[in-house]
Amino acid sequence: MKGLLMVFTGDGKGKTTAALGTALRAWGHGMRVCVVQFIKARETGEIKAARRLDGFEIIPMGRGFVGNRGRPGREHVEAARKALEKVREKMASGQYQLIILDEINNALSLGLVRGEELMDLLRERPDDLHMILTGRGAPPEILEMADLVTEMRDVKHPYQEGIGAQEGIDY
Ligand code: ATP
Ligand code: MG
Repeated sequence: MKGLLMVFTGDGKGKTTAALGTALRAWGHGMRVCVVQFIKARETGEIKAARRLDGFEIIPMGRGFVGNRGRPGREHVEAARKALEKVREKMASGQYQLIILDEINNALSLGLVRGEELMDLLRERPDDLHMILTGRGAPPEILEMADLVTEMRDVKHPYQEGIGAQEGIDY
């Protein structure tokens, strides 16, 4: 087998859920999966589900909403540094067949993670490890390196009609 680098990006809904769908598929084949979440801090349906699945880990390592005005706070930068360290540790353990860096693209564009640091980590990826990167605005060098890139395009979203986030659908 060949480990693939996959990217789900774009402004439409479905990036994280596509990654989780792939994770479920892999897990079904007995693969061990680890999802490290950047920025996100909240308990979600997928975290509750993963607790009941042996070999399917989701680790939320963010500090929640960052905003996009001005420099993000130090606590966010520090959290992202720890999350990247966690990915490195999981990768080095050799225990996983799929590792997902959820919202890493957002962490990059917010300046929480340096592009070079992520590129270095991706170059160290073992040949037989699948990896998925999610989040809006994946930079060109990541798209270049990836084996698979899908861009979710926003056609319609209930938020635009003033309909709020729905349990089980949005979180
Ligand atoms: P999901 O986790 O549902 O797969 P996503 O990973 O593609 O969504 P994110 O940018 O991570 O999207 O944002 C997560 C939250 O933002 C979700 O609650 C989602 O419904 C919402 N969202 C995603 N796309 C849009 C959009 N185009 N307009 C408004 N809200 C959106
Ligand atoms: Mg997402």
